[in-house]
Amino acid sequence: MVRAILLDVFGTLVQDDGAGAAAIAADVAARAGVVPAEVVRDWEARLWAMADTAHGDGFRTLADLNAASLAETADFFGVRVDARELCRAAVDPAPPLFPDAAPFLASLDVPVCLVSDADSEHLGAILARHGVAVEQVVTSEDARAYKPRPEPFRMALRRLGLSPADVVHIGDSPVSDLAGAAALGIPAIFVNRDGRDLPPGLKPLRTVSSLSFLSS
Ligand SMILES: [Mg+2]
Repeated sequence: MVRAILLDVFGTLVQDDGAGAAAIAADVAARAGVVPAEVVRDWEARLWAMADTAHGDGFRTLADLNAASLAETADFFGVRVDARELCRAAVDPAPPLFPDAAPFLASLDVPVCLVSDADSEHLGAILARHGVAVEQVVTSEDARAYKPRPEPFRMALRRLGLSPADVVHIGDSPVSDLAGAAALGIPAIFVNRDGRDLPPGLKPLRTVSSLSFLSS
């Protein structure tokens, strides 16, 4: 029996169109004379690599990682930018909820713990703005580690007082959510809103195209 739900936020509950980052990447690309996708790929790879090593005593906030990885990417393409200021200005303080998010949360009869790679203040403001109230929230800043590392999932289980087999994790990222949960034996549901293929080896309990699956 599922006694609680662990739930990702960005791309799962909250729409994350990445428009701010895309605009920065487009600007760097134009100045470097390359296509924006090349800059995006480089920036993302550096960000993921940095997030992977930013844990425990080496933890860094997402705002810090975004700016540091952008600075490296801009350097790589030979473009000068004020990475910190660009990233600060690009943060969307009020991204919208997906239309199915509030009905989904309202339909649940077990506790929910959000497990989100996010800076606590930023996430707190978004949840408050949308009136999202759940039993527990674990951010990467709380856990001092980013998914798919185990710390955020372990903190969520500890706060709920439950074991991996008691919960289901729901999220949109094959690596952060599915692989992260699987490593601890937590069953996961893949929210695949845009029809992406799953990398081989990942076997979610279920793949759904929206959060309306409980009522369908
Ligand atoms: Mg996500």
